[in-house]
Amino acid sequence: LTDDAGTLIDALRARLAELDDLGRVGGLLGWDQQTMMPPGGGPARGEAMATLERITHERATDPALGELLAELADGGGGGGDHEAALVRVARRDYDRARRVPTELAGEMALAASEAQPAWLEARERNDFAIFAPFLERNVELRKRYADCFPESEHPYDALLDRFEPDATTAQIRDVFARLSTGLVPLIEVIAAGPAPPELPGPFAIEAQRELALELARAIGYADDAWRMDDAVHPFASSVARTDIRVTTRFASDSLTGLFATMHEVGHGLYEHATDPALDRTTLGTGVSMGIHESQSRLWENCVGRSLTWWRHWYPRAQDLFPDALGDFPLEYFHRAINVVRPTLIRVEADEATYSLHVILRFELELALIEGTVAIVDLPEAWNARMKELLGVDVPDDRQGVLQDIHWAFGELGYFPTYALGNVVAAQLWKAAREALPDLDDRLAAGDCAPLRDWLRENVHRHGRALMPAEIIERATGGPLDPQPFLDYLEAKYRPLYRL
Ligand code: ZN
Repeated sequence: LTDDAGTLIDALRARLAELDDLGRVGGLLGWDQQTMMPPGGGPARGEAMATLERITHERATDPALGELLAELADGGGGGGDHEAALVRVARRDYDRARRVPTELAGEMALAASEAQPAWLEARERNDFAIFAPFLERNVELRKRYADCFPESEHPYDALLDRFEPDATTAQIRDVFARLSTGLVPLIEVIAAGPAPPELPGPFAIEAQRELALELARAIGYADDAWRMDDAVHPFASSVARTDIRVTTRFASDSLTGLFATMHEVGHGLYEHATDPALDRTTLGTGVSMGIHESQSRLWENCVGRSLTWWRHWYPRAQDLFPDALGDFPLEYFHRAINVVRPTLIRVEADEATYSLHVILRFELELALIEGTVAIVDLPEAWNARMKELLGVDVPDDRQGVLQDIHWAFGELGYFPTYALGNVVAAQLWKAAREALPDLDDRLAAGDCAPLRDWLRENVHRHGRALMPAEIIERATGGPLDPQPFLDYLEAKYRPLYRL
């Protein structure tokens, strides 16, 4: 029996290794598309990626894989923790992939590719009506997708699960309600307070690149296993655990590229520090978009926008930008990189207002799926809620309901993970500080090793072998909870804005 189980697990590993390889190849094609590929490569790349996706889907839903998993489940699995996790996660992936008819998956992909040019044109002409029928089609197909999972408590659960396994609409609704209850008054008080100092400039791009690389190396970027390139929309991608691609973007009038770099290196570190035993198993990657985003936000915000961090790095920044920062005190710099200001655009939002942009999108996605807001009324619903949550007037749809590409891709259920990232980052940050009493001193000396090691031990190494809720529970001793994030913001902004 043991021999049989061993043979079966070997057969499963061989299949998963192939699936993992196919996924990594797809990631490499995507990375290349956004960093290196000349524009003329677009159509051919689209074909190649579609073919790869089709082959991957065929293998992922191969009935022979299902039979193998059924036999392994009958035989009790055996083996160590990793083998049990391997069978459990592979079973989950297989079942979910099998639920969705190939035809529906094809329709979803087609509708998404048709919606994108319509969204671009609608944005260009500032005319929501151009995009509306395409969005309608995307939403209808997402409802049909949700119907494939009739056991869900709420149809939106099935959409969430694609990005945040096991998260439920009810849970997110509760967390976001507590979050907005805390955030709205805090932001109102800050907005009414004194204006923070403006960051002087300009900042030479090459000097920014130099500093960004130094920050990245301090966090864990290593030249033999990482690359850094430019991309219009920065992202991180893992071609392998020892081949991490981060991208960034610099502009001479701000230092946002430094924070974007720390953000992406945080994503990369998660992928880089998974347990080597999980290589080529489909488990050697981040478990969810929310946990992934917690890793990027933790380095970008909890570390990167702290006074502690800049106690070490500010003299170096002053060396590199003597004209802009030479006479600009560290305390001013710290306030200037922590400006809180209600604005219209999510991707430009600060650490405090950002989650409200996400909550608005979550509420509207839910309303679309529940059918309580018609597509035609979406811009009006958007504008009204922006006013309530952030106190801003939306002048046009380009700066409102048309600003994000996600709905053009048909991606409903993705947005919540951005705010979950903020919430989980603060929970982990609190737990790490409690576990490492000298953490501040070490970071103020430029030493990231204790924090990096703590994150590897508590989050990174598990890959997908633990579910998001298990990671949060084990690392922080409690469930998903927005309170540490609210406490963190209060503790940071009260003194900063002299509230
Ligand atoms: Zn991110």
